[in-house]
Parts: sequence; structure tokens; C-alpha cells
Amino acid sequence: MKIYNTLTKTKEEFQPISKEQVGMYTCGPTVYHYAHIGNLRSYIMEDVLEKELRYEGYSVKRVMNITDVGHLSSDADTGEDKMLKGAKRENKTVMEIAKFYTDAFFSDCEKLNIKTPDVVEPATNCIDEFIEMITKLLEKDYAYIAGGNVYFDTSKLKEYYTLSSHNEEELMVGVRDDVDEDENKKNKTDFVLWFTKSKFDNQELKWDSPWGVGYPGWHIECSCISLKHLGENLDLHCGGIDNIFPHHTNEIAQSEAYLGHKWCNYWFHVHHLNDKSGKMSKSKGDFLTVSLLEEKGYDPIVYRMFCLQSHYRKPLEFSYEVLDSVAAGYKKLRNRIAKLDKSGDTDMKLAAEYKKKFIEVVGNDMNTASGITMVYDVLKADTNDATKLYIIKDFDYVLSLNLLAGEIVSDQQTSVDSEMEAYILDMIEKRAMAKKERDFATADSIRDELAAKGIVLKDTREGTTYEILG
Ligand code: AMP
Ligand code: ZN
Repeated sequence: MKIYNTLTKTKEEFQPISKEQVGMYTCGPTVYHYAHIGNLRSYIMEDVLEKELRYEGYSVKRVMNITDVGHLSSDADTGEDKMLKGAKRENKTVMEIAKFYTDAFFSDCEKLNIKTPDVVEPATNCIDEFIEMITKLLEKDYAYIAGGNVYFDTSKLKEYYTLSSHNEEELMVGVRDDVDEDENKKNKTDFVLWFTKSKFDNQELKWDSPWGVGYPGWHIECSCISLKHLGENLDLHCGGIDNIFPHHTNEIAQSEAYLGHKWCNYWFHVHHLNDKSGKMSKSKGDFLTVSLLEEKGYDPIVYRMFCLQSHYRKPLEFSYEVLDSVAAGYKKLRNRIAKLDKSGDTDMKLAAEYKKKFIEVVGNDMNTASGITMVYDVLKADTNDATKLYIIKDFDYVLSLNLLAGEIVSDQQTSVDSEMEAYILDMIEKRAMAKKERDFATADSIRDELAAKGIVLKDTREGTTYEILG
């Protein structure tokens, strides 16, 4: 398996510390609202990564935290606690909010065929471990107390920017909302390990600690939960790219200061899903959820396929037009597979060859789009249907697109199809206009845009026609 490692900024051969078990840590959701489909893009691609590792024969232990305390509205330790914001919005307690949105998150994951990690640990379960780690960081002089809070002292490290280049503009990606300077900090990049005093003194959940009654910072939870379940040496840590700074940078700082040695070998980051106005985020208020897609008549698995058709290291723009074309392609694919005849013997030699090729393709830094193309290749292969079904089922362990779930008979796609047709006709007309005005660059870019969605234009004497591949 080859994987791009944010730590080394290169694509590397994945070599786990132990052949027995791969340790994989995933930053879980902050449960103050529904996960939006952008968050879920990250979890879908991490799910494919985990399943690809298992498909290649590794045994994987995957751990995920649930952020139910400590994540402030700015990732830079300022602003109000996100959980409290959610509780106020809905007139509930923080724990009620946490339970409701944790359940909602796993229900979305189930609809998207995202496997539940082997260990799921809410941050509020681990207060003693946080206190133990912070105590040791203070003893080792990596932390200091100021104005009632405990801070990590980033100037004590030989290198702080291990994951990210020291480029302020780039780093601001993860530092949203109201960033105002905390005067207690010795260095701008220092961060809070334990709060007893914050601008907002209305924190609902507080615990006793050697530094007074308070609550943990956000970053400490992932370091502690990972160390608790996966030990001192971690293979793989995942998240969306906004986690690179400050969250993952700070996780490395405190874990390695605590341990006194290198902690995690591979860092896997999924690029953002954007809408037309930029990065989709929960703080924007108006965001797309799995339930909303369902209300509009989409099978959530269509969204999984939408994600798999793009590379995880590229930004992905959401649009209903593209989702419609994926839905149409998905329906055709499922129906083609449903027509295959189960009877007959499986050609196991051919199946093994396809498995090897699938590993070469998807195991090459997660080329999931080519993984899907391989399903079409199998359908065209010179073999019997039983073998095709066997191979597609095998691939679907990783892709998890319910490819063998039978024919899609519902007409839910009809309105979608007509919307899609309107879109294609509109594009054809725009292209014709561009050609008339001898603007061939625009005409070509329209044809390319459609081709990227599997829509091929044919210029005939009667005019332009189209064919949808898939
Ligand atoms: P949160 O619930 O905000 O802690 O985020 C959960 C996960 O979603 C983290 O791994 C984030 O990096 C990731 N994430 C946040 N926004 C997006 C987005 N627009 N596209 C993809 N991943 C995202
Ligand atoms: Zn985390």
C-alpha cells in the first residue's frame, strides 16, 4: 500500500510498526450539530483506507474519539465552547446534545456504509488520563500555568511545525472565527491544556483538577485517547486537512513531549468538500446533511460514490448536477449487476488476478475512482457471470457501494433524470452559441466538463446528441 504522508510530504510505501496489527486513529466529530456531508467525506475516505488495509490482509485496530468537551468556536482556543453553543441553541444540557448528535452521526455513518471504529471514546470519559498527561508535561517543563489556565509551551520544542510549513496564511485554514490574542500565552502558538478561567465562565461541564475546577483543551483529548488504546507508537492518524493546524500539530507537540520520542508515522488528510461559497462548515449554519439528501430522494450511497469518484487529496465541489449524474450511473450499474446470472463455477484464478490489480490501483494512494472503473472492466471481462459477481462482491468490501443489492426499480431518479437532461441540453446550447461566436476554448471546456461527468457529446448533421456512459 502506498500512501501520501503529510509528515514527509511524499507518497510512501506503508510499513506498519507491527505486522500483527495496524494502529489507526481518527479524529471524531464534535457533537454539537449534525455532521455535514463535508465531514462525512473525510469519514468515507478514512473508511475506504481502513477497508483497503484489511483487504490487503492487515489486521487493523481503529480508534475514534468523540469531542464532547473542550472544542471552542475557534480552533485557536478562543471563543465559546461549541458544545455549550449547541446546548443553548436547542435549550438542552450539553450531555443531551452530545448523546443526540453522537447517535445522529453513527446513523449517518451506517447509511453511508462507514464501519464503526473498534473503539469509540468520548472525551468526557478520559478526564483522569488528561490530568495525568498534563501533570507530566508540567513536570517535564513543557507546560506552564498562567492566569488560571495550563498552557503548552511551544518554544520548548526543537521543531513545532512538523506537519505544516510555517506559513501564516496556510495555517489560518484551521483557525476560524473570532481569533483574539490570549495575553497569558508566552508564545503565539502556545495552546491551552486545561482551562479554569475562560472569557466565558458559563461552562456546564467542569471537573476537579490539581489546577482548580475546569475542563480540558481540545487537542489533549486525541493524544490521550490514542495513547490509551493504541500505545506509544502509532501507525496512522487521520483527519480532514483543516485538522493539520493547529490540532494535529499540537497533538504531535504534546504527545512527543510527553513520550520523549516520535509518536505517529503516517498522517493521512482528506481535502475539503466545498460548496459554491467555499468550505462547507458547521459554523456556517446552513449546511448539507445526509437526511437532507434523503429528503430530496437520493440514496446516501450515491453520495459515497460521488466521493469515491474523486481523489481524496483534491478539493471537491458539491453540486446537485454532478450528484444527479452519479445517481443515474449508480442505478445503471446496479441494474447491470442485478442481471448477472449466479449459476456456474467461479474462475478463482481470474478472481485472484483482479484482486491483485485492484490492490495495485486502490492501494496506490487510494485511487478510488479507478477502483470503480475496475467494476466496469469486470462487467466487460471475458468470463462467466458467476465469476463477475464474485469479483465485484470482493471489490465491494472496500468500495461498500451495495453493488450486489439488486435492481433499483424505484422511479425516484425520474425527476433527477429530467433535471439532468435539462442541464445537459442547457450546456449543449451554450456550447453551440460559443462555437457560433468562434469561442472554441469555451466550447471545448463545456465538452470537457460534461465528459468528466461521463456525458459524451456527438456532433451529427442533425445537431449535437449525447450519451451517458456507465
Ligand atoms: P468536526 O466535527 O468539526 O470536529 O470535524 C470532523 C471531521 O471533518 C474532521 O476530520 C475535519 O477535519 C473534517 N472536516 C471538516 N470540514 C470538512 C469539509 N468541508 N470537508 C471535508 N472534511 C471536513
Ligand atoms: Zn483529534
